[in-house]
Amino acid sequence: MADRFKRCTKIGYRTERDARVALVEAIIAKNRGRNQRKERRVYECPICHRWHLTSQPLPPPSPPA
Ligand SMILES: [Zn+2]
Repeated sequence: MADRFKRCTKIGYRTERDARVALVEAIIAKNRGRNQRKERRVYECPICHRWHLTSQPLPPPSPPA
């Protein structure tokens, strides 16, 4: 497969499952006061096609078709 990777500054997870595990861990860390982040959901990135965590309640806008 061609390397379509584009620069993305966020941590990316290869699968939704991996991202959800990381999300749960982030929430646990936050509840313990070890993390100032507030991620609440995961989404598939249209740029790097990996999964990211986000604090935004809504999905990012879809790119134009
Ligand atoms: Zn990305």
